[in-house]
Amino acid sequence: SGSRLAGLVNDILDFSKLKHDDILINREPVNLYDATQVVISITRPLVEKKSLTIRNSIDPLSMIALGDESRIQQALLNLVGNAIRFTEKGGITINAVAGGDDDNLITVSVEDTGVGIPPDQREHIFDTYETTAQPTVRHLAGSGLGLAITKKIVELHGGTIRVESEPGKGSRFYFTIQRS
Ligand code: ADP
Repeated sequence: SGSRLAGLVNDILDFSKLKHDDILINREPVNLYDATQVVISITRPLVEKKSLTIRNSIDPLSMIALGDESRIQQALLNLVGNAIRFTEKGGITINAVAGGDDDNLITVSVEDTGVGIPPDQREHIFDTYETTAQPTVRHLAGSGLGLAITKKIVELHGGTIRVESEPGKGSRFYFTIQRS
C-alpha cells in the first residue's frame, strides 16, 4: 500500500503539471519497438503472475516517432498496465502502423482480451478520477488518473487517443503520434 500511495501522489503531481502545461516535451526520434520493450520488461512480473501473454508486434526498425521518450513510455506503461489489470486470460498485443489518412502519423494500439468497457462508460474513461462503474471489476480500479494523464501526454504531442471495446471480449486503445 506504501508504493500504491507513492504512485498516487506521483500521478496527482504529474496530472497537475500536465494540466497546467507546465511540462516540457522533448522532440527526439523514439523507437517505438524499444520503448515498448522497456514497458514489457517493467510489467513482466505482473504478466507472469496472471499467466498472460504479452506481444510486441511493432516493427523494430521502421516505427520511429518524434516525441519525448520518457513521456511516450509513460503513456505506453499506463495503457499496458491497464490492459494487464483488466485481463484475466489471454493476452496483450502492442502494435504500431504508419499512414492511413496522414503519412506523417503513426497509430499505436494496445489490445487486450479482458473485461472490456461498456459503451456508456467509454466516453468518460479519459476524464480525471473516472474509475470503473462496473461492480464486478471495481476492486481492480485505481486512482482514475492513468488515462487522463495518458490523454494529456498524447495531446501535448499533437495526437489523439480513442478506444474500441466489446464488453467481455476486450479493449483496444489507439493513439496517434507524429512520425520522425
Ligand atoms: P484507474 O486507475 O481507475 O484504472 P484509468 O484512468 O487508468 O484509472 O482508467 C479509468 C477506467 O477505465 C478504469 O477504472 C476502467 O474502468 C477503464 N479501463 C481502462 N483501461 C481498461 C482496459 N484495458 N480494460 C477495461 N477497462 C479499462
